[in-house]
This record gives sequence, C-alpha cells and structure tokens, in this order.
Amino acid sequence: MKLVDTHCHLDNEKFDLDREIIIDEIEKNLEFIVNIGYDLKSSERSVELANKYSFIYATVGIHPIDITDYNEELEGKIEELAQDKKVVAIGEIGLDYHWMTTPKEFQIECFRKQIELAKRVDKPVVIHTRDAMEDTVNILKEYPEITGVLHCYPGSYDTAKLLIDRFYLGIGGVLTFKNSKKTVEVVKNIPLERMVIETDSPYLTPEPNRGKRNEPLYVEYVARKIAEIKGIEYEEVVKVTTENAKKLYKIEA
Ligand SMILES: [Zn+2]
Repeated sequence: MKLVDTHCHLDNEKFDLDREIIIDEIEKNLEFIVNIGYDLKSSERSVELANKYSFIYATVGIHPIDITDYNEELEGKIEELAQDKKVVAIGEIGLDYHWMTTPKEFQIECFRKQIELAKRVDKPVVIHTRDAMEDTVNILKEYPEITGVLHCYPGSYDTAKLLIDRFYLGIGGVLTFKNSKKTVEVVKNIPLERMVIETDSPYLTPEPNRGKRNEPLYVEYVARKIAEIKGIEYEEVVKVTTENAKKLYKIEA
C-alpha cells in the first residue's frame, strides 16, 4: 500500500512548468491524491484534472478568503460541479478570522450554505479554519449528520477530542516545523485511525525542504514524523492513513 495526499492544489500555477512530471511521480508513488478547489476556477480545474487521471479526485467549494462575491448563482455552479462522480467532497470551506476578507457574519453564512450544499449532494466537507476554532466547532455541532476533515488541523488536543467522532484531522508539513508543539501533542494523543495525511502543496512545505515548493510526494516526510512521534512502524502509518483517506472520501478502490 502507498500513501495518499488528501489535500493539494496541483492546478496551482507553480506547477505549470512540470505538472506532467509531478503527475507521473504521483502515479508511481502514491495511492491517489485529492485536488482541492477554493474558488470557482480552481474547482473547475480540479474536476478537469480528476476526469483526466484515474488516481486524482477533486473537491469543489469556495474558501473563506475567496467568498467576497458569493451568491446564489455561484453556489449553483458549485452544486452543478459537485454532481461529478470524481468530486469526493465540498471544500475547502470554513472560517478565516486571520485574513478577514469579509466580516465574520458573512463568513458564517457562506460556511452554513456550503454545509447545506454538502448535505444535498450527500458528500463530506473539507474544512479550513484559522483563528476561528470556537465558531467552527459550534457550527459543526448544528449538523450532526455531516462528516469530513479539518484540513491542516490547527487546534489543540482538547478541541480535537470534540471533533474526532465525525471528523478526520488533516496532518501536514506543519508537524515537521520546529514550533509545532501543539500539533505534536495532537498526533501523540489522537488515535492514528482519526488522521489523514496531506501536503497542501504548493504551500506549507515540510522539513527538510521548507522554503521550497511543496509537492504531493512529500507526504512521506509527514508520515515518517507521525511514526516517530507515535513510536510505531512507518508501514503502519501508511496502511492506516490510506485506509482512513478512502473512508473519509468514500473511495472504494
Ligand atoms: Zn488548501
């Protein structure tokens, strides 16, 4: 069994010069990847990529930083894209109180609307949350039927305990950073069965490559760090997190 990159942005322009080479490496070395949409264009590009390659899946949704022009028409287009068989989740959606491109109230409204959309199409959600954990947890409590992943999980172990009955925690390159105490604590104490591995490439590059462009194959650095922290075999991390990724996104293969 091989690893999965559960969250990446391969359609990003940083891959324009060598995307085919990267995709070739993914086919050889990973089980599959999930390319994540964050606005209408990237959602369309994700669906396009997923329809071209069997080992690429897509998500569609509007990121809290990109909801400035969120309206019914845009939501309709996302819902239409969401019908595609290769679309495995709605996301990334959520709350970002760090950049605050729109007021909290509007972010919450768009988050709720996209959770409702996920309910209608019966797919899980990929959540982005930054400096907004309390509101995120409270909103998710209102939708007990919704499942998904908190991507690049930024919260504490105590908060994680409230979420892991229905949500996976996305663990990425941040785990390998020097100041990753909080994430190390989460990885140490949360069962491996509730974690999935991601890169968020081209962003958040793990050590030892920090500062360079991130790539899906770098999930290996994250998996090795998880094995080290939990004191278990690397192969077990591969097996369990890949099974988790399939369960999260309801992928049979
Ligand atoms: Zn992302």
